[in-house]
Amino acid sequence: MPEGDSLHRAARRLQVLAGQRVEVETPHPRASGKQLAERLDGLVLESVEAIGKNLLLRFEGGLVLRSHLRMTGRWRVEPRGSTRVGRPWLVLRGAEHEAVLWNGPVLELGRDAGAARRLGPDILAEPLAVGAMLARMRAELQNREIGDALLDQRLVAGIGNLWRAEALWEARVSPWRPLAEVTDEELHAVLMSAHRLMRTGVEGTRALRHVYRRAGRACRRCGTTIRSHSQGEAARIAYWCPGCQRGGREPA
Ligand SMILES: [Zn+2]
Repeated sequence: MPEGDSLHRAARRLQVLAGQRVEVETPHPRASGKQLAERLDGLVLESVEAIGKNLLLRFEGGLVLRSHLRMTGRWRVEPRGSTRVGRPWLVLRGAEHEAVLWNGPVLELGRDAGAARRLGPDILAEPLAVGAMLARMRAELQNREIGDALLDQRLVAGIGNLWRAEALWEARVSPWRPLAEVTDEELHAVLMSAHRLMRTGVEGTRALRHVYRRAGRACRRCGTTIRSHSQGEAARIAYWCPGCQRGGREPA
């Protein structure tokens, strides 16, 4: 039975992943509806801490995942790629290890109150503070590529890699265009698309993916082959259609 001690032991075992960029999966259907993989995949896990009966996992950008194990939950740390039977709630995969959460049952994503002040407006907020987001984008160096800027949590908080790709495709804007060459109308359209797609995701319907993880396949709009390439300092993978998302300095 997970009591305080075992929670502290779990926190210690999970330290092997602290400071690493992690791949995040939510194989269990009860966990996959929470959009955790979409919001956390590819972020750096900054720290793991046991507080009371909660395990707090802090990610870059001020996102905090709270895991409460109740009587049934278990965290295990295994070598990366271990085979397993059944569907865990959550898998956090680092370079050499993966942390696996079995039997939830409480998993909530929130924001660190201290970090919140440094964050841009939340992409999920209703109504969307799109004017404030535009102002932050325009205060940024305008030679920065829009695909890179969209993942900067100081400019707009909460757009994950999946929704960055899908929102840019929907608005027909290439991730490689510098902000200077993107109009306010286009920026507005990209942000509104991300907001709408993510709200739809939150409410449970699974949006059809057009470019994310579809590199090498045909664009559903124009038939051109979808491409992928790492972008920005964080080297997150951008997905785009060179046919209907033109411009900018596309990689060779
Ligand atoms: Zn296309």
